[in-house]
Amino acid sequence: MKGILWNPWHGCHKCSEGCANCFVFYLDKKRDVDTGTVRRSKTNFSLPMRKNRQGEFKVASGTEVATCFTSDFFIEEADEWRDEAWDIIKSRPDLNFLICTKRIQRASDCLPNDWADGYENVAIAVSCENITAAKNRLHYLLDLPVKRRYIFLSPLLEYIPLNEFLETGLIDMVSVGGESYENARLCDFDWVKRIKEDCDKYGVPFDFHQTGSNFVYEGRSYRIKHHDEYEQAKKAMKILHKD
Ligand code: SF4
Repeated sequence: MKGILWNPWHGCHKCSEGCANCFVFYLDKKRDVDTGTVRRSKTNFSLPMRKNRQGEFKVASGTEVATCFTSDFFIEEADEWRDEAWDIIKSRPDLNFLICTKRIQRASDCLPNDWADGYENVAIAVSCENITAAKNRLHYLLDLPVKRRYIFLSPLLEYIPLNEFLETGLIDMVSVGGESYENARLCDFDWVKRIKEDCDKYGVPFDFHQTGSNFVYEGRSYRIKHHDEYEQAKKAMKILHKD
């Protein structure tokens, strides 16, 4: 399925170990942009609603919309803009919005009034980097009424046993990725394999979306260029499927 990024606001604050080498800070620094100032995007806020001269939506029906990947959808500063973003999401039931957050503890206070069991077109993914983050965050995801619940283990910093969450039958997908760029902490393929095995045990779909820049495969360390991380992860997935 074709996908786009929709960043209605930009900027964030580091809130856990997984944020230490956040790519948003890294890339903003190169452009001399202050990531710590969270601001509404003048150009992108209404992206899903834009139309062409024929009056058709520019973002085609069925598109996967990765939402708020240069901020956090549930960050405090966005409280004043979020209702408008929910209105946009509601206005495009033909798109699939993916909201990824590390601030899942705020989510239940940030839902629209007509959310009920969740909008059909919204999946919420919680990002966790280690066992502590998983234990602190994932029970909020289980308790939240939402149509699809994903776990993103990214950047993966250690093997994370997910059995207590997977066995609930409430998790729709687990996706794993390593950390990018020059200071990236290592991601060991052995952790990835073990997490896939856990997912297989409970029949939960699994994906390994990127290796990270500092990848360990069978005990040997590899530096992977950022633009190769996705392709290398695909290759590694093929190995996992053969096993
Ligand atoms: S929550 Fe996400 S965007 Fe914000 S600092 Fe952490 S890793 Fe970066």
